[in-house]
Amino acid sequence: MIPIVPAGTPPAATADNTQLWLKPGQIALPGSPPLSLYVHVPWCVRKCPYCDFNSHAVPGKDGSHDIPEDAYLDALRADLEQSLPLVWGRPVHTVFIGGGTPSLLSAAGMDRLLSDIRALLPLDADAEITMEANPGTFEAERFASYRASGVNRLSIGIQSFNDSHLQALGRIHGEREARAAIDIAQRSFDNVNLDLMYALPGQTMEQCRSDLEAALSYGTTHLSLYHLTLEPNTLFAKYPPALPDDDLAYEMQDLIEARTAQAGYRHYETSAYSRPHREARHNLNYWRFGDYLGIGAGAHGKLSFPNRILRQMRHKHPATYMAQAMAGNAVQEAREVGADELPFEFMLNALRLTDGVPASSFHDMTGLPLHAISRQLAAAEKKGLLDADPTVIRPTELGRRFLNDLQEMFLKD
Ligand code: SF4
Repeated sequence: MIPIVPAGTPPAATADNTQLWLKPGQIALPGSPPLSLYVHVPWCVRKCPYCDFNSHAVPGKDGSHDIPEDAYLDALRADLEQSLPLVWGRPVHTVFIGGGTPSLLSAAGMDRLLSDIRALLPLDADAEITMEANPGTFEAERFASYRASGVNRLSIGIQSFNDSHLQALGRIHGEREARAAIDIAQRSFDNVNLDLMYALPGQTMEQCRSDLEAALSYGTTHLSLYHLTLEPNTLFAKYPPALPDDDLAYEMQDLIEARTAQAGYRHYETSAYSRPHREARHNLNYWRFGDYLGIGAGAHGKLSFPNRILRQMRHKHPATYMAQAMAGNAVQEAREVGADELPFEFMLNALRLTDGVPASSFHDMTGLPLHAISRQLAAAEKKGLLDADPTVIRPTELGRRFLNDLQEMFLKD
């Protein structure tokens, strides 16, 4: 039995008991939000010292890159089958295969995964299907096969083009592998994102500029530019490297804003920059507080029902997950999000978007009336953090700079 904690109600059912989630609750949703699917692949060749994702060094002998692929794909299918009653009949608009390093999957493995997804879920004909890939795991033939199997967007973890920074970040690749990976990707894919980080250990302004120019030179459809932060429970948190100070990091951010805009990218979300109409549709669904089913080790999900919103988490360790999924218990934890938590959860996402969201979507996605947050909206507007237009919920430039403060204004009292 999994611990399920519907707000204000004693736990009384399993996650696949849809009846529980259909009972009267604290909210009234006018309809179902768009649905996405997230698939987690929990292995990497090596664990990076700054990484707090659920990723584990590949088991087995050094350099073999062997993952228990067949057993994991069996578990994913079992997990998906168990989840179907919660999303019955709902079309899936986007799929994101993330990790970890999904490019450790063989071409046949990826083909099987996508076939299973298509067989079990009503996937839109034009669904965005993204997979993450890391340099050092690239072979042209395999990437052409991924494309032929239906993957139509690739997100590559470049992080930097500077060999010494890549080494400091514990990455398995250098500049040469990073460039080779982009070349291979662009041969098969026309929709490519590059992940890059800035404010790296010892990084100067010039080095940041050089990384940015290298990334821009490929003209990919999308760039994700992240400020390196020290996350708890990582090696970097235990042994912190010397990082650029806040002033230098702000200067780097300003440079990124200016150069990406000049190169035709729009800064549409805190860390995301895209060419026109090439925003990451999967991530946009998260930021707009849409629904997502998350399968795979440690995957999180958010699913809406007429009277409540449910959050789920799968067993985290790959071996435990595989055993539990095959036994019909992939979900470790499921809980109903309390009505008093929803405003903050909604704002945590929506306020990351430069354009914000229509004011009406607050009710559409949370099932709460907009007046539930009218006091906080007025206070944020008075401080100059939110746009005064009543038809949208949109951060001002000041609001984007002080995003944490703005988001916290919607925490429950
Ligand atoms: S490659 Fe990515 S997911 Fe894997 S350990 Fe490094 S940062 Fe984490």
